[in-house]
Amino acid sequence: MTAQELVSGDEAVARGAWEAGLRVACAYPGTPSTEILETLAGFDGVDTQWSVNEKVAFEVALGAAIAGGRSLYASKHVGLNVAMDPLMTASYTGINAGFVAVVCDDPGLASSQNEQDTRWVAPYAKLPMIEPASSSDAYNYIKYALDISEQFDTPVLFRMCTRVAHSKENVAVGQRQEVPLKPFAPNIPKYVMVPRNAYQKHILVEKRLLQLAALSEKTPLNKIEKGSAKLGFITSGISYQYLKECYPDASFLKLGFTYPFCDGKIALFAKSVKELVVVEELDPIIEDHVRMLGIKAKAKHPSFRIGELLPQYMPLICKGAKKKEIPSTARKPVLCPGCPHRFVFSVLRRNKTVVAGDIGCYTLGASPPLAALHTCLCMGSAVTLHEGFRRILPDGKIVGVLGDSTFVHSGITGIVNAAYNRMKGLIIVLDNSTTAMTGGQNHPATGKTIRDEPTKQLSLEAICKASGAENVDVIDPKNIKQLDALVRQRLADNALSVIIARRPCKLIDRERLQMPAFDKAKCKSCGICFSLDCPALTRTAEGFVEINKSLCAGCYLCADLCPAEALIKPFK
Ligand code: SF4
Repeated sequence: MTAQELVSGDEAVARGAWEAGLRVACAYPGTPSTEILETLAGFDGVDTQWSVNEKVAFEVALGAAIAGGRSLYASKHVGLNVAMDPLMTASYTGINAGFVAVVCDDPGLASSQNEQDTRWVAPYAKLPMIEPASSSDAYNYIKYALDISEQFDTPVLFRMCTRVAHSKENVAVGQRQEVPLKPFAPNIPKYVMVPRNAYQKHILVEKRLLQLAALSEKTPLNKIEKGSAKLGFITSGISYQYLKECYPDASFLKLGFTYPFCDGKIALFAKSVKELVVVEELDPIIEDHVRMLGIKAKAKHPSFRIGELLPQYMPLICKGAKKKEIPSTARKPVLCPGCPHRFVFSVLRRNKTVVAGDIGCYTLGASPPLAALHTCLCMGSAVTLHEGFRRILPDGKIVGVLGDSTFVHSGITGIVNAAYNRMKGLIIVLDNSTTAMTGGQNHPATGKTIRDEPTKQLSLEAICKASGAENVDVIDPKNIKQLDALVRQRLADNALSVIIARRPCKLIDRERLQMPAFDKAKCKSCGICFSLDCPALTRTAEGFVEINKSLCAGCYLCADLCPAEALIKPFK
């Protein structure tokens, strides 16, 4: 009997790939893709790793495939941007054993800095793209992806979105098939992309695309589901699920092999229905292609190109109506009570610094009233944007702020660049000893592997010194007076300085101390404590402070800052 497991799309990818004989899997954590590697790390027989960044992850996994073992790379959409350099040329070298790049898009920007549509990458890189609509699709399609990767000597892009990655479904799972290693034979024209070889490989890539287009016509992943001849949908991914729910009697062309397109099947399907509608999340990729084929079809109003699609949008899309924004009831994003980053932002705010920020929890330092972080672009850009700011405003109070994992990902090169190019200034590494925003994954500076096993620990202070930083200080940000003095001193120094503000994330160090007492008689209602944006502090109708006992972690930052000593630590 086949076992049934309730699994998310991410878990289904991991399970399917493991059963298909996967040997190596690499990723840098990124929501909504993180659980793929976390699940794979729990299986025997797969060498898994948190790589320091996506480019590294892609190259390690590709190297394993070229050496003969089936391998997988996973990231979120913006992570693939970091790996684009090797991806574009891997399309030319091809692979040896199966190699799949799983990429999870984030329509609706639940936790990303943009909502780019990874489907564009397939034609750009001239690679096949597979797109599951559910966990069972993800489980089955990943096996198919590894097979066609080997059959056509190509990396395969495997695209999911947040809803597919995180929704759960019962999947009938099987057993692992041990796939023997493919022999590696040195082949310089295939794997050494000097211009002469690359030119020849480009010819092969174009031929491969034609072969893949032929496969797209006959693959069961592009499936016509006959229903009413009155209404037919061409769709893919999560949009298929929403449409099935709203229009169960309609006909469907469900695209699971989304590039190259199955032009013949699209034309055949279009002829079979009276009214044709293309429904897809984000960009009009299928829509434009269908129109390019000279086929008349309705499609969503351009307002639906922004944000996640929802089941209730389907009738509006079919009518060609505009999107009606649904008011958000989401709570305001805010740093956790007791978060060590709040100490640093409190100091930076009081010193009126301009802060070049980065990707991580600390981006929440931008939320008013804290409002102490002024840019957020991509991983590691705190260090390099800081340099850019200083090149124009050499005397400005400018600070670059990024996390420990982010520093290892892409911050190190910025420090090397700053030192080499004789830049002065101050970088603060908010070292909370984890990759917090994606749920607390290890990285080289934690000294633990993906399986929590001890490994070599990267010393942030040693790497900063070796990179050329002149002052490297390590401080517990809870010592707020010393931190304040140190920041002032380093801002005044004519040097390249790094302060490592080290205190574990509150989700690791869950120690909860007694909350401060409040003396109403002393309170001047100045509001300084509210400027910390601590969720444990609320303002009463009279303008006084109320401390939420269930939220307060006892960090005493409010007590340290209260000029009237109305907030009192429970110890002297
Ligand atoms: S900082 Fe102190 S004096 Fe000012 S409102 Fe808060 S408790 Fe009252």
